[in-house]
Amino acid sequence: MKKTTFFLLAIAFLFSAKAQVQVRPLPKAGYEVRIGEFVNNMKVVDTHEHLGSPERYKKSGQLDFMMLLFHYADDDIKSAGMSKQGFEKLLTDSLTVIEKWQAIKPWWEASSNTSYNRAALLTADKLFGIKNIDETTVVELSDRIRKAYQTDWYNDVLKNKCKIEYVVVDGEDRSFGDPKMFRYVKRFGEFFFATSHKKIEVIAKQQNYEIKTLDDFESALSIAFHKAMDKDFVAVKVGIAYERSLFFEDVSKEKATAVFNKILALPNNESLQYNGSDIKPLQDYMMHRLLDLARATNTPVEFHTGLQSGDGNTIENANPAHLSNLFLKYRTVKFILFHGGYPYGGELATLAKNFRNVYIDMCWLYIISPSYSERYLHEWLETVPANKILAFGGDFLNVEGVYGHLLFARQIVSNVLIAKVRDGYFTEDEALKIAQLILHDNAIQLLKLDKQLLK
Ligand SMILES: [Zn+2]
Repeated sequence: MKKTTFFLLAIAFLFSAKAQVQVRPLPKAGYEVRIGEFVNNMKVVDTHEHLGSPERYKKSGQLDFMMLLFHYADDDIKSAGMSKQGFEKLLTDSLTVIEKWQAIKPWWEASSNTSYNRAALLTADKLFGIKNIDETTVVELSDRIRKAYQTDWYNDVLKNKCKIEYVVVDGEDRSFGDPKMFRYVKRFGEFFFATSHKKIEVIAKQQNYEIKTLDDFESALSIAFHKAMDKDFVAVKVGIAYERSLFFEDVSKEKATAVFNKILALPNNESLQYNGSDIKPLQDYMMHRLLDLARATNTPVEFHTGLQSGDGNTIENANPAHLSNLFLKYRTVKFILFHGGYPYGGELATLAKNFRNVYIDMCWLYIISPSYSERYLHEWLETVPANKILAFGGDFLNVEGVYGHLLFARQIVSNVLIAKVRDGYFTEDEALKIAQLILHDNAIQLLKLDKQLLK
């Protein structure tokens, strides 16, 4: 290589290695440690969980090392090749701990590279003091998990170990959880999947309201909605991207009525395809009615966007860009888009940037991919106002999962803020303020979590 070529390449490398423009003075020595400590020790708000009752886990056949593998890790273990039936058996007490390990071992070894499974390893280490999950450790790990459940485990993990101030749960079970800390979101899925006469009857019974027409059906939704909001629900959750596209046309009442009447006219044992085009106009119509209710009551609406857990799902359905017509029509409804839209992070950035009523929620995201989370948190902090980013939700069925996931989240948020301070994009003070917003204050303000306490 000629000397001049080398020189030019070296210059080009120097410029490309510096990804950021420098806006602020470079930080004082020790900023990495200070930012890391701040993020690691701060109280956080957990915007999204599916926590199940600890009593139910105690009685189940999975209160052993499977507590670290039954949720999310299971997706990758099955993706690696283990059968669903084979996996289900591991959640019963029909096998000993060692037999369970032998059955899962090949699939665990094939998939332990993924971040779902790295999170399980980190949890085993940091929460239970077990450095690896293998044939020499599963018995001891299982004993430690069983012992933990003899204590006030949920409070200990969520409050003391995770330093979580509020946790927002997507679930109906109120038999556990400190009411000072637990908040809930409400789904109205039954109104979108009422594909048969019988299912409409179930809703009528639940709401104690006779349903003969589409008007009645809308009234039943309104009753259900107001009942939920009178309790301690803080937002509506929509998980429909698992079943169909997120594009909800503004269909006429006539068109929706035609579908509704078609369902009522079906014989008792028949139903419309719930994910087919037949039901879509009615679903679209009901989504608009749900958003009317959200608008009238100033209730935020959370949408599942991006990756759907488990196999056999259609990712294009869950592209958050499908929702734009709703953002435009319901300008005062706050739309919270979940899961960092994985893999639609760029689309999500433009939506949250352009629409004042669109927010980013990074729940579930760090364990899907730490590097995606880091890359997009960088990009979102460059494109989206910091008051519109919610940076942690564990999205787990159990507190062990929450703990491991939060370790990932704190690490990634630190990495991003440290890099941005190092480059002179933010000052150290600005970085700390942003951590406080995205991991704590934004969620409290957006979901009015502290006001609920006064009720
Ligand atoms: Zn979830």
